[in-house]
Amino acid sequence: MNFRSTPLAPGLHFVGTPIGTARDITLRALDVLASADVLAAEDTRSLRHLMEIHGVPLNGRTVLSYHDHSGAGARERLMQALAGGQSVAYASEAGMPLIADPGYGLSRAAAEAGHLVTSAPGPSAVLTALTLAGLPTDAFFFDGFLPSARTARRNRLAELREIPGTLVFYESPKRIAQTLADAAEVLGPDRPSALARELTKKFEEIRRGGLGQLAEEIAEKPVKGEIVLVVDRARQPSLNAADLEQDLRDALQTMTIRDAADLVSRAHGLPRRQVYQAALKMEKD
Ligand code: SAM
Repeated sequence: MNFRSTPLAPGLHFVGTPIGTARDITLRALDVLASADVLAAEDTRSLRHLMEIHGVPLNGRTVLSYHDHSGAGARERLMQALAGGQSVAYASEAGMPLIADPGYGLSRAAAEAGHLVTSAPGPSAVLTALTLAGLPTDAFFFDGFLPSARTARRNRLAELREIPGTLVFYESPKRIAQTLADAAEVLGPDRPSALARELTKKFEEIRRGGLGQLAEEIAEKPVKGEIVLVVDRARQPSLNAADLEQDLRDALQTMTIRDAADLVSRAHGLPRRQVYQAALKMEKD
């Protein structure tokens, strides 16, 4: 037996569950599942199945269904259990609750009511993909799922173009080809990126390459399974400050600050805002 049934502190206990391989569950997650007074899950069947695999008995407990849109009744039931001093364990279908998954509404309500909110953390696809992508992890921006409508998706990608960190997206196999094509166009075909598929499962695969290259590969040979797309931040070309200054000075002879900043930022592959500020300073001096 890999778990202990011990009295749990009253409060809300989020439980991280595997994103593929069932043995990725932590021992503490099993302890919490074995010991909580009340069990709740986004998908009651998957949680019961996971408990069965690891031999954690229900001991007469039912698993309540809860997601953030299940309506006031379901949340109220859990809030009443918390108010009554019970321990409530909550798991999403896979990975960490709240990460592109339900739990936020419950977490907020429990914290606002003054209850303990704690977590038995487990795997998450975003962190697993980052560890395998071969891209910098000093700073990253997780954007969950991009919008499914093309224009909204492209607009969102444009908003993220200059984020100074690695970008991480969840994506479905149905949409990945179109997303890669849009990302190559909006963020640039040469941006290093990685497509992480079926993490922790039998057919785990990491493909690394420029966005344009990955877009071509996937358009030619579609892939199945669960996917995380990881994209490097925009790389600023090594900057010759003297050249930039001279180009800006030349442009300002005949153009407004705005137009000069547009032209020079494009020519040097630099953020427009940065060049605009430099032009303003130059005009002031
Ligand atoms: N809460 C989960 C987590 O912590 O990663 C994410 C849930 S979200 C609804 C499901 C998406 O996560 C999938 O569509 C896929 O993009 C990504 N994902 C989940 N498991 C994965 C896996 N084993 N390999 C690759 N991506 C995965």
